[in-house]
Amino acid sequence: MDTLEEIIKDTEEYRDTIATVDDKGKRVWIHPKKPKGRFYNRRKVVSVILLIILFGTPFIKIGDNPMFLFNVFERKFVLFGRLFLPADFHLFVLAMITFFVFIILFTVVYGRVWCGWACPQTVFMEMVFRRIEYWLEGDANQQRKLKKHPWDTDKILRKTAKHAIFIAISSLIAHTVMAYMIGLENTVKIVTQPPGKNIAGFMGLMAFTGVFYGVFAKFREQACIAVCPYGRLQSVLLTKDSVAVSYDFERGEPRGKLKKKKSIQNKNGQSGTRALTMEDMEAPKGDCIDCKLCVQVCPTGIDIRNGNQMECVSCTACIDACDDVMDKIEKPRGLIRYASHNNITNKTDWKLKNPRVLAYTAVLLVLIVAQAFLLVERGQFEITILRAPGTLYNVLPNGNITNVYNTRVINKSNEKASFTYKIVNSKGVIHFAGNELKVKKSGNAEGVFVLEMPPKEVPEIKTKINIEVWSKNKKVETIRTVFLGPGS
Ligand code: SF4
Ligand code: SF4
Repeated sequence: MDTLEEIIKDTEEYRDTIATVDDKGKRVWIHPKKPKGRFYNRRKVVSVILLIILFGTPFIKIGDNPMFLFNVFERKFVLFGRLFLPADFHLFVLAMITFFVFIILFTVVYGRVWCGWACPQTVFMEMVFRRIEYWLEGDANQQRKLKKHPWDTDKILRKTAKHAIFIAISSLIAHTVMAYMIGLENTVKIVTQPPGKNIAGFMGLMAFTGVFYGVFAKFREQACIAVCPYGRLQSVLLTKDSVAVSYDFERGEPRGKLKKKKSIQNKNGQSGTRALTMEDMEAPKGDCIDCKLCVQVCPTGIDIRNGNQMECVSCTACIDACDDVMDKIEKPRGLIRYASHNNITNKTDWKLKNPRVLAYTAVLLVLIVAQAFLLVERGQFEITILRAPGTLYNVLPNGNITNVYNTRVINKSNEKASFTYKIVNSKGVIHFAGNELKVKKSGNAEGVFVLEMPPKEVPEIKTKINIEVWSKNKKVETIRTVFLGPGS
């Protein structure tokens, strides 16, 4: 009988190492077995839709704007066709806070669903680059054989073709990312003009291509295991109720190999002329037959039977592999399935209609709607009117009193605009040099005006007044400010 220390050492050893690094600290290259099954098929469909959206979006325009633009160089951002400038920093901060709250809540409820189904790293790695590899180099065992095989014409051709396609796809991704950053027209210019004319853009494209090729051809699962901050947050975000790809240890253990029944073994393993069936086999007490297929398909090389681990990207490949095994040994599917820790210990299934999940989902939807409302409701112009610093009032020979104001307008629209100012419910007059303030598209302008008021409308030292700002015969905003006077 093993001592407690031996049992703990035996079952917890996997925590001391990661599957992709050997004892000497060298990278262990993962050759995952090609997945197949219902989840893989669904992920293929989702991936195709996501890839169409990713590559197609830069071609969509709303008005004059692209649908999305993240131009960090010029600090210009477009979301759903609406332009955001540095003046919208408060919205950016709010969006970031919403984003982080969303991520935390989402992960608490849905675990790493994002990683497995929608993260661009997983979609490209598993559904594009890995599939090309399977196509050119075969399944895991053939890939290992090809790796050990001396360089001959066949190996050179296969490897060259693979890396040429990898570089071409990396370049396509780089161009798409560039289109999201500087816009489609500018990206087309970089592509169609000689490199010397757009040297920075050209170098950027080369650098992006190199990075994507490096990530998908070489770095691979290490991006999820060692770099991705979201992956590293899992250990603190997941709870015992979070859904994850989980091994049902209650059902699977004690695991063991399928053995032929003694009566069959006594016939030297012969079962007569008929093929062996499950009836000839002696199953272990648990449902796991320790075939290790779930480990062989795992793109991060882990054994999900050790419990939820940070390296698991929730790709569902092990679910499909295990379901296939369960079908063959005539046991119910779902030994590995989407379930929370509590589902497994309580022998229940994870349900979307669970009140806790519904409550969290409702909060997530409220967050999205509130943020969308803030973005859509954001005005096209940002206008300030402030009294000129260091000035008091002035009394004119006709007795009227004047104050000097500074005004600033940020135009977040895609058209140039001009603005006029009117004092509300007053005989006061605004003297604006040039009568209006002109602001170019996506720009800002400042102006100075003098407000002249009859003394009877300035009863106090600080009289509150309202100034309307108009553009194209439409009131844009009413701004409340104060007018200084001697008081009555
Ligand atoms: S695939 Fe299923 S049966 Fe095979 S080792 Fe994994 S959990 Fe056990
Ligand atoms: S453990 Fe399963 S779900 Fe997690 S990464 Fe490996 S194969 Fe994918």
